[in-house]
Amino acid sequence: DEGESRESIVMFPFMAHGHLNPFMSLARRLGQRKGYAVTIVNTPLNIQKLKSSLPCKTNIHLAEIPFNGTEYGLPPKAENTDTLSYEFIGRLMEASEKLESPFKNLIINIAKKEGNFPLCIISDMFLAWTVKVANELGIFHSVFIAGAAYSMGIYFSLSLNTNQRGTEEEFALLDFPEAAKLHQSQLGTDLKYTDAIASLFRFRERQFLLCLRSDAILLNSIEELEQIGAKYFRRKTGGKPVWMVGPACSIAKEDESTQQGTLTKRLSSNFNDLSSWLDAHPPRSVLYVSFGSHNTILASQMKELAMGLEASGVAFIWVIRPPLGFNVTEEPKADEWLPDGFEERIKKSNQGILVRQWAPQAEILSHKSTGAFLSHCGWNSVLESLCHGVPIIGWPLAGEQFFNSQLLEKEVGVCLEIARGIKTAVVEQGHIAGTINLVIGKTVKGEQMRRSVREIQQKMEDAILERGDFKGSSVKAMDEFLLRAAIWTKKKHSVDSEQVSNG
Ligand code: UDP
Repeated sequence: DEGESRESIVMFPFMAHGHLNPFMSLARRLGQRKGYAVTIVNTPLNIQKLKSSLPCKTNIHLAEIPFNGTEYGLPPKAENTDTLSYEFIGRLMEASEKLESPFKNLIINIAKKEGNFPLCIISDMFLAWTVKVANELGIFHSVFIAGAAYSMGIYFSLSLNTNQRGTEEEFALLDFPEAAKLHQSQLGTDLKYTDAIASLFRFRERQFLLCLRSDAILLNSIEELEQIGAKYFRRKTGGKPVWMVGPACSIAKEDESTQQGTLTKRLSSNFNDLSSWLDAHPPRSVLYVSFGSHNTILASQMKELAMGLEASGVAFIWVIRPPLGFNVTEEPKADEWLPDGFEERIKKSNQGILVRQWAPQAEILSHKSTGAFLSHCGWNSVLESLCHGVPIIGWPLAGEQFFNSQLLEKEVGVCLEIARGIKTAVVEQGHIAGTINLVIGKTVKGEQMRRSVREIQQKMEDAILERGDFKGSSVKAMDEFLLRAAIWTKKKHSVDSEQVSNG
């Protein structure tokens, strides 16, 4: 519908794989709605990366914001946190705050081109400074927090009140009493305040306070799962609208329609091999092991995990990358970091496959032979697992992953945690093998987890379903959000629109 006029929505995700992905997925859903067009803003290299994940036919546009990282002490071409060390991630975060005036110019240019200001700006929680631009231009602003309300509530609480963790082994959160007590072992290094990461804390505090000033909060979860977390954000924002619009994640059948999806299938012999390997296994019998897009564990833990996998006798696909302390982009050396002869043995016995660096995760999780996911509990991985009905064995490593694992185990019953943290994690092969068999095998616990995950899978599917008169909770939330944004932005610009309609 070329001539049809569309309301424009501007989205600005933070520059990290785990943020770009859910934004893209939400953008896809918004772009499928009649009468809307989405513009995703980012730095040039990230825009280039996003091009390949655009659906073939789309109302999603990409817009570059000029960025020169070397001005901020970043290495050349460093525009994404995925391959950056801690020190540089902090710099990239701070550099992102300097994009205010180019971002404002970009919005003004969009408005000039389209003859109208965008309906709303949806920004990342780390780019909440965009609320200032939105306010100046009279545009409705919302942050999209791409995590669970429960876990992000805890993450906000810990970031905004740095000294509440005290010294007790367990402690309750002052401003989030509904959440379960936390154990000190659930705080990764990024949530333990030290002088070395003081600037990271200050950055988060600045952005999170701005999040609470935004006009609304969108969360990547579903109403049916998240009463406690929603309450936290409603209270902290002083009663502003908080909408659950998830799940926004990679769903294999949706990904097929993107250029990247087609590409992965067509070009990657990797996926073809994996897919036929999976085909040859019984339903729900394979364990998939991955720690997300950038996390790694210790070499000693890799060895112990390898022995646990082997001892379990369960078939597995394991995405390996160099252990902590090594260059993450380096080719992982199985012979050096894994037990002697491990890869050969699992190949010969056909028990397992090692994938180096990157696997087509959504495809693997959607395969009928996949029966459990040993995961670091990053929220994208969690959603992908739940949407494909796969129970989780949790090994949270950082950030809010600990709270995701807790939510999934204690409230939802779809996860069993086997270890916690990186340097502090105690992993023991016998325990690993036992837990894998408990979850994937025909045990009471395993059956229970599969039942719970099927229920939650159904709820996730229903939440984004629109058929006949039926609208899922996330669809309704999105309707409300768009309506609120339209009324709000139009009111601010009523003078302009009168001028437009009077010709
Ligand atoms: N992912 C993938 N292949 C891999 C590792 C990760 O496709 O080998 C994708 C995964 O499907 C998910 C994202 O990368 O969408 C990881 O996000 P998550 O929130 O789970 O973890 P993070 O990487 O942010 O820690």
